[in-house]
Amino acid sequence: MRLGVECTPMPLPRGDPRGHSPILTFVPEPTPEPVPPEARDAILAWYASRGRTLPFRDTSDPYAILVSEAMAQQTQAARAGEAWTRFMARFPTVESLAEAPPADVLRAWQGLGYNRRAINLQRAARIIVDKHRGAVPSDLASLEALPGVGPYTARAVAALAFGMPVGAVDTNVRRVLGRVLADDAGAMDAAMLQRVADASVPADRPGFWTHALMDVGATLCHPRRPACEACPARPWCRYATAERVTPGGATAGAPGGVVGRPAGGRAVRGSLPRFTSTSRWLRGRIVERLRAAPNGDWVAIAGPIGDHDQAAVDAALEALARDGLVVLETTNHTAPIGEASRGEPPGPDRSKPAPRRARLPT
Ligand code: SF4
Repeated sequence: MRLGVECTPMPLPRGDPRGHSPILTFVPEPTPEPVPPEARDAILAWYASRGRTLPFRDTSDPYAILVSEAMAQQTQAARAGEAWTRFMARFPTVESLAEAPPADVLRAWQGLGYNRRAINLQRAARIIVDKHRGAVPSDLASLEALPGVGPYTARAVAALAFGMPVGAVDTNVRRVLGRVLADDAGAMDAAMLQRVADASVPADRPGFWTHALMDVGATLCHPRRPACEACPARPWCRYATAERVTPGGATAGAPGGVVGRPAGGRAVRGSLPRFTSTSRWLRGRIVERLRAAPNGDWVAIAGPIGDHDQAAVDAALEALARDGLVVLETTNHTAPIGEASRGEPPGPDRSKPAPRRARLPT
């Protein structure tokens, strides 16, 4: 099932000189109804008793919520929770984050990966201090204008910190709403999904609802094997209650175990490259080496690192420098005779250029 804009041929009026070609007009598909109030109440009640306890859920400080949402992007909530506690102890205010050397911010980000988020978060803090007098903006347009803040993060902050009745749609929420309302995680396009998400928010509890929906998606509505039997949305969920055709042609109900297609409607992906062969892995290793350098010293970054040769290492250094995560030495560094650069065997090799030197930005 795919909802969206459909192209419908319209017949030409009789005697139309343009001939017999059909005119194409766009007939928008109706947006599904939002989550019904009874289902909403059931989800909220479930969250009140079974929701995850995470350290950043107790705060109403917009800055602290912005930090938590930046961390929770692409990082498991439990790990983000531990890192958030450490980070907030180191940078308790938006001013303290804005003023810090970027190298300190990158060190505090250790263990979270996707280090560019740390640099973007600090850039956002500097804009908040310079342009918004130290107060996280409460309107969506200003939030989305901050570095690293997209539609999801802006809406999550707006709902959690400012009580705005807007729906924050991440991958988990998309799956829950798609399945509950349209029997398919990918049934709605982004605009339609946003409309439905916004219309489903209880006006008096937008923050509570945001957490509740996230937890249903993260702990029950798994992509491959949703735990429908434990889900508070099950009685209203089209996906859980739909009948499926089995491989043998019989039909079967689907709650908790879909028959006849991969649960979640997910395409089966081909073999993925090993993580260690990705540029993301390489970038992470380089930043790790620079973090370990005392006092932000220059570090010679020589290849190979893992499967990545010197050319790949140099390309990763350039990309990290463009993103503001590292500073590259501009003068040519020549390894003196006998110097053992990090990652290289001891002794000079005059047939090769000396490895680039880099450090964290200060
Ligand atoms: S009933 Fe199943 S498919 Fe529907 S939202 Fe809950 S876990 Fe997901």
